[in-house]
Amino acid sequence: MIVMKFGGTSLGNAERIRQVAGLIERNSDSFVVCSAMSGITNTLVEIAGLWKSGKCEKADDLLDEIASHFEQTCYDLFRDTEALTNSTRVVIEIFDLIRNRISGDYNLHKENWLLAQGEIVTSKLIALYLNSADIPVTWLNALDFISTGIDGEPSVSDIRDRLNAILGENRHGRFLTQGYICLDHEGNISNLKRGGSDYTATLAGAALQAVSVEIWTDIDGVRNNDPRIVENTFPVRELSFDEAAELAYFGAKILHPSCVWPASSNNIPIHLRNTMEPDAPGTIIRSDIKRKGITAVAAKDGITVIRIRSDRMLNAYGFLNRIFAIFEKYRTPIDVITTSEVSVSVTIDNPCHIKEIESELGSLGSVKTETGQAIVCVVGDILEQHQDRAVRTLDSLRHFNVKMISFGGSRNNISVVVPREEMKDVLRSLNSYLFGNQSPKPDSWLISQA
Ligand code: ASP
Ligand code: MG
Repeated sequence: MIVMKFGGTSLGNAERIRQVAGLIERNSDSFVVCSAMSGITNTLVEIAGLWKSGKCEKADDLLDEIASHFEQTCYDLFRDTEALTNSTRVVIEIFDLIRNRISGDYNLHKENWLLAQGEIVTSKLIALYLNSADIPVTWLNALDFISTGIDGEPSVSDIRDRLNAILGENRHGRFLTQGYICLDHEGNISNLKRGGSDYTATLAGAALQAVSVEIWTDIDGVRNNDPRIVENTFPVRELSFDEAAELAYFGAKILHPSCVWPASSNNIPIHLRNTMEPDAPGTIIRSDIKRKGITAVAAKDGITVIRIRSDRMLNAYGFLNRIFAIFEKYRTPIDVITTSEVSVSVTIDNPCHIKEIESELGSLGSVKTETGQAIVCVVGDILEQHQDRAVRTLDSLRHFNVKMISFGGSRNNISVVVPREEMKDVLRSLNSYLFGNQSPKPDSWLISQA
């Protein structure tokens, strides 16, 4: 069994859906995970915002827009009259239900229900299309097997038990389901956060012990640097799970950051592939990669640095614990952390509770917050063979205003924090220092660096 996940842009219109159907047809035993058609979840989020603030007329207009987008897709997709009638009926029924729901009062459970409809309609249309095109597929409701526990996290063994019960002994054939959506621990419809279809795919892959999880997007795998900022980037054909986890967080928007662990802990390769160029090599993420050396550079802005300074920290134990407890209380993840004897600096990318966090940290010491920062990270086997590589990498940044340096957490990563205005130049500078400024490297380059 192979898991194939298709993102919104791969399902952007009837033509793209036909293309995807051709890819699904190639594998007779597959578990297909679909996102919502592109732009739909964004619009549903907007509709929810309007509904919440009582702007129901505008919400209805947007709803009409996406309903007609789906209907138009049916007209463009289905040649067969019966399939066309069935598909437009699905769209009409679901949108009638949505209109009915949002005419009532707003609440968060209803919002989550609304957000799930993008994946539900899209997956139903694709299943109808595949079946009408003689590519038989069984539609599965992801809410029957993906759920999160009280900690908000899904469990592979629960998903495995439920999928075993649903699929029984029969593991042959094509199955198709929705990414992103799940039930929470109380049985309410919820989701795995934006971009969460990748996570559904690797969770299902781990539960089914799939041969591989293919994530189909519209770019040819991961690049060694951000091509929007840096010239002469080149594709990275292989990544270790650790490198992929670092890159997924630090701005390489190709993968949902949570989706690496189900694959890595079950040793299932993730293959990033391009629907526009299905035979291109893409990027494989797996454990047994041979390359050594620096793989890629990535960055993320919108970072806030919080510094806590207190003389009471000197020789005290439990101090970090108290600091972390405050971040835990406000469910705010810390990304980079550096410490001295009397101070701790951390970065966060979610400033929602910054005021409360600052005020509670104030009881532990003096607190200084700087917004508008960026994290730039260098990923690869940094220590391998070249012990001085880390030092030289940092030396190449001597003209920049480096605020924090994190190195030694793993051998795969050096992260620095710089003001966001310097981020692009830092990326360019690291690119020419680490990869040279010549023509793009051949695919074998990284391997031959070993
Ligand atoms: N449709 C959801 C989103 O746009 C989930 C996904 O595409 O992965 O975030
Ligand atoms: Mg995505």
